[in-house]
Amino acid sequence: MEKRKILVTGGTGYIGSHTVVELILSGYTVEILDNLYNSDGKSLDGIEQITGVRPKLHIVDLLDFEATNEVLAEGGFETVMHFAGLKVVTESVEQPLRYYENNIMGTINLLKAMRRNNVKKLVFSSSASVYGEKDVAEMREDMEVGQKIFCPYGRTKYMIEQILLDEVAADDGLEVAILRYFNPVGAHPSGLIGENPKESPGNLMYVVMRVARGELKTLKIFGTDYETRDGTAIRDFIHVVDLAKGHIAVLKKMRPGALIYNLGTGTGTTVKELIKAFEKASGQTLPVEYAERRSGDLPAVYANADKANEELGWKAELSIDEAMKDTINYLRKNS
Ligand code: NAD
Repeated sequence: MEKRKILVTGGTGYIGSHTVVELILSGYTVEILDNLYNSDGKSLDGIEQITGVRPKLHIVDLLDFEATNEVLAEGGFETVMHFAGLKVVTESVEQPLRYYENNIMGTINLLKAMRRNNVKKLVFSSSASVYGEKDVAEMREDMEVGQKIFCPYGRTKYMIEQILLDEVAADDGLEVAILRYFNPVGAHPSGLIGENPKESPGNLMYVVMRVARGELKTLKIFGTDYETRDGTAIRDFIHVVDLAKGHIAVLKKMRPGALIYNLGTGTGTTVKELIKAFEKASGQTLPVEYAERRSGDLPAVYANADKANEELGWKAELSIDEAMKDTINYLRKNS
């Protein structure tokens, strides 16, 4: 079997494409499986320009088991990195069945195809949302998950984590890494790839980009009376390139069984601080509108990143200022 060959599901999307770049630069052979629901495949051009390699793209829906199985059967893959999924929180509240079907059935099909073709390593994109609402802001991997999760999207991530842990218990040879991402922002410093979804993810950074482009009149800040240093909510914004590098670090650590890591900076940034960093990097003042808190929004959530720092020898290195500078560079090159 060809070694170091990796199938990346969702590899044309935002985080997947940045990870594909880091994988190729680290010497892995990469193929991508994506149905192009939320990406147009243009990221392949960027990946090729950055790395000199254009990974093979299988336009396949994970809900199609036979097609998914065919990709794995012909591949000789050592590892699968599983990014493919739907991720819009508000949409998951409106269309829960679609989210459960796409994210959970898609993962089950992938696991079945991996079993059938004896592929034993899986890295899964989970989310900080599995922690649910807690009394504390700093999330650690050994905390309970699955309680008070505020949306179906988060529950799909929790359920998939449980499925993976059950699979590991049933198969001695299976190696799984569950990576809980906090809030990815930024773009590749080349400006050749970045967040370019077909469907609005509804997250703060995307709204900031749309306001900066003049596509939205104002930037709404929900909640200014939280008990935080400036009254706005605190999140752990991690540069997408740092996040991508975390995936390379975890590959070196994998062994039979399950690993779980938070991928975050370990530092909270307020919404106002993020907007200020964007304004500083762009020289543009964003029109801001203050609004009431949204139900379900937590005042502060950030990662305890000690486990990943110590065990993986990985640390988020890029600042929020660098993330904003790279976002603006990407916006200017792709406007
Ligand atoms: P993205 O939408 O940019 O990328 C996901 C990709 O998966 C898209 O290219 C889409 O076309 C593809 N896809 C979706 N359903 C598919 C299916 N059934 N079959 C094949 N391909 C399919 O999203 P992203 O921001 O790059 O997120 C990647 C992963 O990380 C997702 O699983 C997401 O839930 C998770 N995550 C993202 C964030 C974030 O804020 N971006 C935070 C935590 C976790």
